[in-house]
Amino acid sequence: MEKTLRGVGVSHGVAIGQVRHMGTAVLEPPTTQIPTEDAPREQARAQAAVEAVAADLTARGNLAGGEAQAVLEAQALMAQDPELMADVSRRIAVGSSAERGVYDAFAAYRALLASAGEYLAGRVADLDDVRNRIVARLLGVPMPGVPDSDEPYVLFARDLAPADTALLDPTLVLGFVTEEGGPTSHSAILARALGVPAVVALPGATDVAEGTVVAVDGSSGDVLLGPSQEKQEELRAVAAERKAALAASSGPGQTSDGHRVPLLANVGGPADVPAALENGAEGVGLFRTEFLFLDDSAQAPSEEKQVEAYRKVLEAFPEGRVVVRVLDAGADKPLDFLTPVDEPNPALGVRGLRTLLEHPEVLATQLRALARAAAGLPVHLEVMAPMVADRKDAGDFAAACRKAGLQAKFGAMVEIPSAALRARAILQEVEFLSLGTNDLAQYTFAADRQVGALARLQDPWQPALLDLIASAAEAAQVTGKSCGVCGEAASDPLLAVVLAGLGVTSLSMGSASIPYVRSMLAKYTLAQCRRAAEAARAADSADEARAAAQQVLSGE
Ligand code: PEP
Ligand code: MG
Repeated sequence: MEKTLRGVGVSHGVAIGQVRHMGTAVLEPPTTQIPTEDAPREQARAQAAVEAVAADLTARGNLAGGEAQAVLEAQALMAQDPELMADVSRRIAVGSSAERGVYDAFAAYRALLASAGEYLAGRVADLDDVRNRIVARLLGVPMPGVPDSDEPYVLFARDLAPADTALLDPTLVLGFVTEEGGPTSHSAILARALGVPAVVALPGATDVAEGTVVAVDGSSGDVLLGPSQEKQEELRAVAAERKAALAASSGPGQTSDGHRVPLLANVGGPADVPAALENGAEGVGLFRTEFLFLDDSAQAPSEEKQVEAYRKVLEAFPEGRVVVRVLDAGADKPLDFLTPVDEPNPALGVRGLRTLLEHPEVLATQLRALARAAAGLPVHLEVMAPMVADRKDAGDFAAACRKAGLQAKFGAMVEIPSAALRARAILQEVEFLSLGTNDLAQYTFAADRQVGALARLQDPWQPALLDLIASAAEAAQVTGKSCGVCGEAASDPLLAVVLAGLGVTSLSMGSASIPYVRSMLAKYTLAQCRRAAEAARAADSADEARAAAQQVLSGE
């Protein structure tokens, strides 16, 4: 039977496929004692689960080949370690259930490994993964982490952390649905980067049964459970039509009367470049360099590794503009070697530029790597700092850039209301502003961007947010400098028209949104954009602002 759930659509398009849940962290099995006569049965269950997990790891290794195969085979061997299995059996014999026996035996082995020198300690994560797989199998719950599937699927999760999503195979993920996360959460950003439809803040997402066929409409936020064949075909036809119309749009971003608003791409690394080029990005407006740091959160990537990744992105836009954001660690993107663990409220703690100013060597290495990567290339390199609060922050960042000998424009992200309010002062220190509307909304409304229930307050149409955007854009205009938007607000086609009307000079977004924004912007004159912006700012809520802009533009 068809049933429709409604969340917040954050990445356009329609995805139809089976639900696979992101496995949650393995729960600790209960310590209840089992009767002695059940021990042989529990031992057999444990043995069978271990063998199945080992066989699965080996099979995946064969499929993957290369380095991954070696890692997976080593994990399969760990699972079958005879001493470990003997320990599991002993624990079951004295009253543990199969899952508890595995859990405790692995914990003992883990402690041994962790204290046995650097190399073995590094294998602890692999051991934990093996244990989680065996325990999940015994408990009959989905495998932890990214789903095991050879078939494309629609990923359902409570929320997605950047570290989880780094492991996703983009060729298998048809779309995302999350129960938590607002329009600016990392699930939404990742979905846009992959160009797959996504819906966030969907109540009940985690209760939808594994394997259910769903149709996800990333524009309306509707998720249809069990759509009929007819309905599926209808949705596919509409999506294909929309896509074909968009593919026909090309050229630079501009209003119908030729006011240029460059459309740039948000990227997380070289892997996102092909999609940016395909969608006609005029450059990169936000290179989120922290994704390079997430592979190994115990230490910074070497200068060489950074040079290599930066150069690949810079080379892709020979004459274009590439805006690189220096490392934005902390809060929802913690890094073990940098982020304090004991902060009462990490979103208001030492994060972004604050972290870098406390660890100048990390910033200096990154700036040096950027200078080396850009050497000899005609690209227009711009470098900006996240979470700039005031003029002093901006001045300290510019000084670090000068010290590193960087030939680039230096800029500040406006993500904290104080920076928007004092944008003119900040522009005394740097050459451009870039509005990070995701964090700017979070801090303006005191509404955590990870919390789905607060999606209303993170709505970038909120008039208070539009006021702050206008204030930053005006400061840039008065001082003859630029002020772009690189937060998710830029990917909403109607809002993009309003942003242009507010005086924003460029729009940067997940590549898949570029054609949508381009075709909308091309429909209106700059004067119409300004009138829509005025109407939106005069409203008292996000919904009213959206409706007011729509009304002005449709000439009603
Ligand atoms: C923002 O906050 O709007 C932004 C672009 O940065 P991030 O989403 O990476 O925090
Ligand atoms: Mg931000």
